[in-house]
Order: sequence, then structure tokens, then C-alpha cells
Amino acid sequence: MDSYIESVYNAVVEKDPTQKEFHQAVREVLESLEPAIQKHPKFKEFAILERIVEPERVIQFRVPWKDKDGRIQVNRGFRVEFNSALGPYKGGLRFHRTVNLGILKFLGFEQIFKNSLTGLPMGGGKGGSDFDPHGKTDAEVEAFCTSFMLELNRHIGQFTDVPAGDIGVGGREIGYLYGAYRKIKNVHGTCVLTGKGAGWGGSLIRPEATGYGVVYFVQEMLKTKGEKIKGKTVAISGSGNVAQHATEKCIQLGAKVVTLSDSNGNIYDPNGIDAEKLAWVKELKNVRRGRIKEYAEHFGVEYSTESNPWVYGTQIALPCATQNELDGKEAQALVDGGVIAVGEGANMPCTPDAVEIFQNAGVLFAPGKAANAGGVAVSGLEMAQNSMRYFWTREEVDRKLHEIMVGIHKTAYETAEKYGKPGDYVMGANIAGFLKVANAMIDMGYLS
Ligand code: NDP
Repeated sequence: MDSYIESVYNAVVEKDPTQKEFHQAVREVLESLEPAIQKHPKFKEFAILERIVEPERVIQFRVPWKDKDGRIQVNRGFRVEFNSALGPYKGGLRFHRTVNLGILKFLGFEQIFKNSLTGLPMGGGKGGSDFDPHGKTDAEVEAFCTSFMLELNRHIGQFTDVPAGDIGVGGREIGYLYGAYRKIKNVHGTCVLTGKGAGWGGSLIRPEATGYGVVYFVQEMLKTKGEKIKGKTVAISGSGNVAQHATEKCIQLGAKVVTLSDSNGNIYDPNGIDAEKLAWVKELKNVRRGRIKEYAEHFGVEYSTESNPWVYGTQIALPCATQNELDGKEAQALVDGGVIAVGEGANMPCTPDAVEIFQNAGVLFAPGKAANAGGVAVSGLEMAQNSMRYFWTREEVDRKLHEIMVGIHKTAYETAEKYGKPGDYVMGANIAGFLKVANAMIDMGYLS
């Protein structure tokens, strides 16, 4: 790292020494920005790096709620409003027991560049809580969401900050959150949350968008090598929103998905997960809220708590669960098994040494901020539709999503080439996302 960039990174670590995931995300971005910082001295002159690593605002609040036995529980709520140079803060809410400020700062930081890459007018933010929806009743989730919104409503708005879902926040939670917002504010129709139900302001294809988008991006990477997704075997981790819809698009395009997982273990289905089996998984995960182990019992396939989805010799890997889920050892197993393309459906699922192994082995590697941008892109389209008081058809939204993913691929590919590292999508995505935000910050003066 060049000494100026290193000094910015060191200051980040010194200020918040315990925020490991945030350091990791900042380091990955700063390292790859080096050629852009050297080429354009104005970014140093205007202290863009020093400003961009500091959130504009961090909100932390208490979320008391009553459980099914009438006991009062207390969780911690957060919203990190990271950067609004390009538009209102935009980014999901995560409900998971591991949530803390460092994780939300990493996610919010990534979101700035991801949103910039979509080409839509959205800034970056992220929020959530250490509340764990696993095993909670619907009434408990409703009580929590209502209490969470009692505070969050003061900070969000269609021109200010527009949250969406993430891990642990799906259609059910967005429904309760929006219901509470509507009661508190007595408004309906302004786009204050995305991922809403299609019957009351949501966009068609929003639930599918992240998973479909990852596969569209991988398709584009494969094209650069004269390859197709059809006929390839695919390993996918997770079994939530992103994993389910990545699986769905792979099936539609003629690929064979052989793994899914959750935080307890993974299944391996050598015959492939077809549309019927996927419908069963959706029911299991989204309605019955069960464990992926039940798939193995139901369909008579292998289930492992010791193994992982990356050891089955697949040609494509799509980590779609959580950060740092795929390490160097697992990356090596994928390379040894003949993987040709890896697309990050989750945010930062591959550790830095895993990324290095893929890149050194010539594997096509799509970083999350480019590959999983389809979700926030369709959230942007949901905002546009709400503003117009109008809805596009499934086909129209899917076509726009596809166009956006093709556009992000082209931008990342061409930027990597321009800055001297052809094929390095990490560098291409980071520099392209950064340039737009940095130039906007300069245009708007040093206070922005
Ligand atoms: P869901 O909550 O729908 O699903 C998450 C899945 O990942 C579940 O199968 C969950 O298993 C598994 N998982 C969570 N934590 C762990 C862990 N520590 N170890 C192993 N498995 C784990 O979330 P999403 O599908 O929405 O999100 C998945 C990833 O995609 C996240 O990184 C998110 O930030 C990213 N993303 C999501 C977008 C969206 O539109 N939803 C947009 C862009 C990125 P279990 O049930 O056992 O917890």
C-alpha cells in the first residue's frame, strides 16, 4: 500500500480497534484504489479518503419489546448513514445475534460503492439489530419490529434514508416495519422502505433480484471466456433469499445446483436441485422456517455438519450466506476441484486469502459489491415506481435488472483494464464505484 493510503487505513484501525470486519472492508477498497489515487491528485488534496471512511451519521438506540411470556426484552438498534453524496442513504437492515456497529459499518461502507455502480441515485447506509428472529413467534417479531420503528421513523424518509431487508429481514419483517411506520406517520405511498409486498407498493422481482443478479453477472464473466452457464454444476451456500433465487435462475438457465446450507450444515444433492425441490426449500425456509437438514431427510441425500459446500468439484461457486464464510483452505478446495467462476452473492463472503487464491489461479472472481448489486438496483426501481405512482410488469423489471447487471459488469471490466489490471473485477468495481462518489463529494464542497 502507498504510504498515504496506509496512513488513512492505520487511522481507521486506531480509532475503532475492535471493528475487524470494517477494517477488512476498508483495506480491500483502499488497496485497490491506489492507481486511481495516484492518477488523480485531487482526491488527496480534498481529503476524500479521510472523509469517505467516516460515516456521516451513526444512530444507536434501545429497542425494548415483550416476548410471548410477557417478559420485557431489550435489544440494540442501529442505523449507519454512511454517505449521501449520490442520493438518500440506501441499504438493508440486518437482524442477527452477531450484529454490532463494526459489522454494520463494513456493510454500509460496501454499500456506498455498490449503489454507485448501479448508476441509480442512491447513497450508502446500513442498519439492524442484534435481535435474532430464529425461533421467535410472528407476534414476537411484530412486537420487535414495531418497537424498532418507533425510533427509526425519526431518521428515515424518501429523500433522507430508505432501508430494505438483509439477513433476518424478509417480507414478513418489512411488512411489520412498514405497518408501524404508516401508523406513526399517517402516510402511505412515499417510498420509505423497499422490499414491500407487491400488493402495497413493492416492486415485482425485488425478492428475486439479488440472486438473479448474481447469476446474470456470472453469465457476463463467463462470456468473456467464451463459456456459458448452461450445463455447469454450481455450489451455493445459504438457503435464504439470495441463495434461493440464485438457485432458481441457475435452474432456469440449465445449470445444476448441487448444494445449499444454513448455519448448521450443508446438503449435497448430486442429481441437482430442480424447480420442484426448490419450491419445497422455499416452503421449508420461508413458511415453516425449518432447517436445511430436513431437505436431506426428505429427499434422501447427504447432509454434513463437518463439511462445506465447496468440496464437491463444482465449476461455479456462489457463496450466498454471510461474511467470511469461505476461507483460503476452502478456496483451494474449489480451485483443486476445477472451479472456473466465483460470484459473491453475500457481502464479503470470501476472506482476503480466498480472493487471492482465486485471482492467482485465474478463476473469474466477482466481488459482492458488483455481483450482488441487483437487489439494491431493484430497490432503486421500487423507489422510481413509487414516485411515479405506477408499476412495471415482471418482464419490464427483470429486463431493467438484467441491463443494470450487464452494465455493472462492463464498467468493472473496462475500469480494471483502464487502470492496468485486466480481469481484476475487485479493482474495477472499487475504482468505478469510488470515482463517481469522490467526484460528487468534490463538487459539493468539503462539508459533504
Ligand atoms: P437470509 O436471512 O434470507 O438468509 C441468510 C442465509 O445465510 C440463511 O440460510 C442463514 O442460515 C445463512 N447464514 C447466516 N449466517 C450464517 C453463518 N454465520 N454461517 C452460515 N450460514 C449463515 O439473508 P439473505 O439471503 O437476504 O442475505 C444473505 C447474504 O446476502 C448476506 O451477506 C446479505 O448481506 C447479502 N445480500 C442480501 C441482499 C438481499 O437483497 N437480501 C442484497 C445484497 C446482499 P440460518 O438460517 O441458519 O441463519
